[in-house]
Amino acid sequence: IRKAGILEMIPVSEGLEDIGGLDNLKEWLEKKAVILKDMAKAKKYGVELPKGVLIAGIPGCGKSLNAKASAKLFEVPLLKLDMGRLMGKYVGESEANLRQAILLAEAIAPCVLWVDELEKAFAGIGGNGGGAEVTTRLFGQFLTWMQEKKSAVFVVATANDIMKLPPELVRKGRFDEIFYVKLPQKKERRKIFEIHIRKRRPGDLQNLDIGKLVEKTDGYSGADIEGVVKDGIENAYVKGKPCVDTEDILTAVSETHSLNEVMREDIE
Ligand code: ATP
Repeated sequence: IRKAGILEMIPVSEGLEDIGGLDNLKEWLEKKAVILKDMAKAKKYGVELPKGVLIAGIPGCGKSLNAKASAKLFEVPLLKLDMGRLMGKYVGESEANLRQAILLAEAIAPCVLWVDELEKAFAGIGGNGGGAEVTTRLFGQFLTWMQEKKSAVFVVATANDIMKLPPELVRKGRFDEIFYVKLPQKKERRKIFEIHIRKRRPGDLQNLDIGKLVEKTDGYSGADIEGVVKDGIENAYVKGKPCVDTEDILTAVSETHSLNEVMREDIE
């Protein structure tokens, strides 16, 4: 399973402090961390064991980042399940792969199991043909496991398009909560700029007009903002400047804006 890249252990360095915005999600995860820290105590108190969370929303807005940060917060390993690679060529192979992946995750528990691009895995549910049948069986297997799960495997499932997910999956009882991440608003963009500038050029933060950068990046995702910060730093370096200034980053913004718009139209 691990050799085939179906289940992969992901090293984690990002924490909640590396995420700008998404305050509700971060607060929710912090509450779950208290429970997961001493599950025996929580259970004795009558608290339900957390099952997991579904995070949906457009690309580049911090879904993967949250999967990683939750493992760091819970102080447990992060396992990533690649649903695309799970599908085998032979009869019953996909189901056996999923069973093995689950067994392995349960053996490693406590851990976070990150199921990425959930909607891709379960596309074609209820359709006709061999592929659709396997998908439907796999889906049933996954749902049953989620519903009956007693182990300390906290599932973080991420999906771009919640509309493509089968309704059974988003019904209560499967995930503890579903969060929808949107494009960052002004306050969040400010935080995201600060995080990425502080990571690379902490000394320049006070010289930069973050307010102006925020104004000029309406419609940018977190990943877009990270991109303009990186490009802005590169601009300043290539010019031989000792510090990065607002103009360097604004140049990067003006160069990427049209590309972002083209890509976003594609997604929509
Ligand atoms: P995808 O659906 O494409 O996987 P995603 O929503 O999972 O997208 P991430 O992989 O979390 O997006 O984001 C990509 C990168 O963009 C992150 O590694 C991070 O550096 C930056 N980023 C995105 N959102 C945020 C945020 N809210 N705060 C700080 N950085 C962010």
